[in-house]
Amino acid sequence: MKTVLITGASRGIGKEIALAFGRLQYNVVVNYNNSPNEAVLVTQAIKDYGGNAVAIKADVSDFNEVLKLIDEAKSVFGDIDVLVNNAGVAYQGLVQDMSPNQYRKVMSTNFDSVFYCCKKVLPLMLYKHSGRIINIASVWGEAGASYEVVYSASKAAVIGFTKALAQEVGPSGITVNCVSPGIIDTQMNSIIDSDILDELAEELPLGRLGLAHEVADAVLFLASDKASYITGQTISVNGGQFCR
Ligand code: NAP
Repeated sequence: MKTVLITGASRGIGKEIALAFGRLQYNVVVNYNNSPNEAVLVTQAIKDYGGNAVAIKADVSDFNEVLKLIDEAKSVFGDIDVLVNNAGVAYQGLVQDMSPNQYRKVMSTNFDSVFYCCKKVLPLMLYKHSGRIINIASVWGEAGASYEVVYSASKAAVIGFTKALAQEVGPSGITVNCVSPGIIDTQMNSIIDSDILDELAEELPLGRLGLAHEVADAVLFLASDKASYITGQTISVNGGQFCR
């Protein structure tokens, strides 16, 4: 049985990714930071399908906590076959109004965590000459967004890291890809006024916001045998945003 570790899997997109792997009978490591009750509900749902899951608390922006997370995951399931770096935070505001602490929080949660988790999981994958790493980027990391400059930069860093790591570990049988969501209906966007969200949805070619399970489907594809020759790529799940 394969094991997947998903960072930030208590809510939103990460939760849907965890449930989707659970339905495929993976062992699922549900990482969370501030939402323990939600994380336990995710593991319970997976167990209800007859799968195995464990919830592990770790702030993935902190290297020491990532070390403990991976060690605990290994002690429960023995190995990690798929790593999904999903945990993320948004920040909206002008660059000149953002404090260095706010900057650090966005960069450390969205990007440093990807480096920390890959650094710690890669030796397991290199040892067995196989593995899948899937990083959750963002349409803003591809295009850039005013008012979300540092968030955009953190996600552009994730995309650059993904392309380069794919080159480094491809010869070792490991693939590294991004899934890049557009505007997805999760709590992350609850800070945006609902009228503005409706307007944004109307402007999209598909005329609606994305759903978390639609992002999960792309992650599942990249983890599957059907994606065995895909690496260093970014699959956009964005309803056609910026395609015209
Ligand atoms: P969300 O609903 O706000 O959920 C964020 C998840 O990240 C939660 O499970 C949260 O866990 C976890 N998290 C945050 N900081 C963490 C930390 N330091 N350590 C561990 N976990 C942490 O957001 P979402 O919309 O599902 O976003 C998931 C990913 O998709 C993010 O990387 C985001 O940037 C990306 N994305 C989202 C959208 C969108 O429109 N929603 C678009 C593009 C990209 P706790 O609650 O347990 O702390």
